[in-house]
Amino acid sequence: MLNVSCIQRFSIGDGPGIRTTVFLKGCNLRCPWCHNPENLSPSPQTLSYPRIGKTVSYGVWMETEQIVREVMEDEPFYRADGGGVTLSGGEPMLQPEGAAKLALALKERDVPLLIDTAGSVPWSAFERMAGLAQMYYYDIKTADAALYRGVIGAAPGLVVGNLRRLIANGEVVHARVPLIPGFNLTEPDCAGIVGLLRDAGVKYVDLLPFHRLGSGKYATMGLDYPYRDTLPPTEAAVERFAEIFRRDFTVTIE
Ligand code: SF4
Repeated sequence: MLNVSCIQRFSIGDGPGIRTTVFLKGCNLRCPWCHNPENLSPSPQTLSYPRIGKTVSYGVWMETEQIVREVMEDEPFYRADGGGVTLSGGEPMLQPEGAAKLALALKERDVPLLIDTAGSVPWSAFERMAGLAQMYYYDIKTADAALYRGVIGAAPGLVVGNLRRLIANGEVVHARVPLIPGFNLTEPDCAGIVGLLRDAGVKYVDLLPFHRLGSGKYATMGLDYPYRDTLPPTEAAVERFAEIFRRDFTVTIE
């Protein structure tokens, strides 16, 4: 069983090709810029979107077979352009048993699975997934352990340790670095992240410039959005920071 927030078909930003993204409910971190506040709590939630006249419920327990049946409806699209299924959240590695069961079922059907994780979970969660994932999208938000722990509630030792072990075990890992004004968007911050990623053996880095697309959800949920007044970085600024990463990695800007 998995606690599923929603299943999004025809995703094009969650990995290679056309994908179906299964968003799981529940996250153990609290990034103040999070774009998916509806996925933070493991409890079910209903959000009203008056502008489009729609009410959407997030959070339902689903059997593996049920999820497999649903995602396999788009199998021809995965086959056509190298897509597959992405498991995201929230933090999908907080549900390791269900995630591994789904991963195995998809592997048996030759459907690639990408895991999108922030990595602040016990290694045993990744151990269960050994050899079952096509690749990992692995968030690295800062190289400053105090910031990691203090601002977003992560266990930096676990995050970095799991990253190193995944790479040492031969898993394909893309490090995902959000570029957040006021949090990690200075040259020393980026240089620190570069050093951390280089030491861990990372080759591919995806940069995710801050945007405010999730702010409407905070308003709908009656929550304060701490980044409401923060402007996204300009294209020129993003390019300048990307150059710091390009010296060591293959970089994609999302
Ligand atoms: S790890 Fe991802 S889902 Fe969890 S709070 Fe941070 S941005 Fe949101």
